Amino acid sequence: MYDYLIVGAGLYGVTCARLLTDEGKKVLVIDRRDHIAGNVYTEETEGIQVHRYGAHIFHTNDRKVWDFVQRFAEFNRFTNAPIANYKGELYSLPFNMYTFNRMWGVVTPEEAEAKIEEQRRSAGITEPGNLEEQAISLVGTDIYEKLIKGYTEKQWGRPCRELPAFIIRRLPVRFTYDNNYFNALYQGIPVGGYTGMVSRMLEGIEVRLVVDYLEDREAYENTAGQVIYTGPIDAYFGYSLGHLEYRSVRFETELLDIPNFQGNAAVNYTDAETPWTRIIEHKWFEFGKDPEGNPLPKTVISREYSSEWKPGEEPYYPVNDEKNGTMYAAYKELADKETVNGNPVIFGGRLGEYRYYDMDQVIAAAMNRMSF
Ligand code: UDP
Repeated sequence: MYDYLIVGAGLYGVTCARLLTDEGKKVLVIDRRDHIAGNVYTEETEGIQVHRYGAHIFHTNDRKVWDFVQRFAEFNRFTNAPIANYKGELYSLPFNMYTFNRMWGVVTPEEAEAKIEEQRRSAGITEPGNLEEQAISLVGTDIYEKLIKGYTEKQWGRPCRELPAFIIRRLPVRFTYDNNYFNALYQGIPVGGYTGMVSRMLEGIEVRLVVDYLEDREAYENTAGQVIYTGPIDAYFGYSLGHLEYRSVRFETELLDIPNFQGNAAVNYTDAETPWTRIIEHKWFEFGKDPEGNPLPKTVISREYSSEWKPGEEPYYPVNDEKNGTMYAAYKELADKETVNGNPVIFGGRLGEYRYYDMDQVIAAAMNRMSF
């Protein structure tokens, strides 16, 4: 009945669905949740687009991806500039001249570089082999202690020495006064939220919600020539090689009867004692205004708590350490051999490929996979 069955209505699945449909293929998208858009889902409260599964700021260097998303949404000029709150001391992120000035009183890039070099040298790091060493070698021990260690250990539930260095290399280090969190050419938030964008991507495509593919696999397999699966790869194989580890996130969301709670979209709490990692104030993704430009009288905030994923919860972040990397490689071998109705099953997205993908990378991966 369908050329493709796509399991998961997140960005990977929906990008595949759109491109295949544009090629004239007949596609069915299913998702076990009661809504589309996966973890980029947004919903409106009091005129505010709330990012229910955490803040998503679209940013990319990939012109093809940027052109593609423009088909489905207008993007605003939001630029991410989070603030770190360390026991009441506020620092600019990502690490830049404002951060170095606040930390050490240095004014010139040369002074900042000298300070970092001095701290790197006394820590004796030559070849960083883990997140702690990588962080100290990039920004020195003071910034590591105040802005990285506590946050990272809350976020990942593991000591920084046991985490891969690449996680911290996501963040730019700049010797300029530039608070833009991303080094991307293009950045913004879809006006009116991500759900609207994803729903336009799905125009003319059949979608069925509250359908659990893994519970009812045979019935669905028989409906389509080829399967694209974007759920957790270990769940697909019934955890036969063991459970991959994920971090999960819990949000405590509140509607407040005040216009401004923290004056910024994201404030990270980088000490070890505060139980949440960050607070998001959603209205600032759209400058605190409704689509007509009127200021919004109320505000919605979400405190974000990180925890180890347990069955029944939502997986958010793959834990890309050595142990999980080895297990994933074994699952990938199974995945490469997996067929349904004689056709290879395509595994994609953050959960299907067990990769700490950003939104643009997910879309790029789907676009590449669909260029048959
Ligand atoms: N990080 C940190 N302090 C911060 C923000 C980030 O140490 O104030 C580290 C932390 O290890 C985190 C990583 O940088 O996991 C990547 O941060 P990013 O903001 O990219 O994470 P995401 O938004 O994907 O959760």
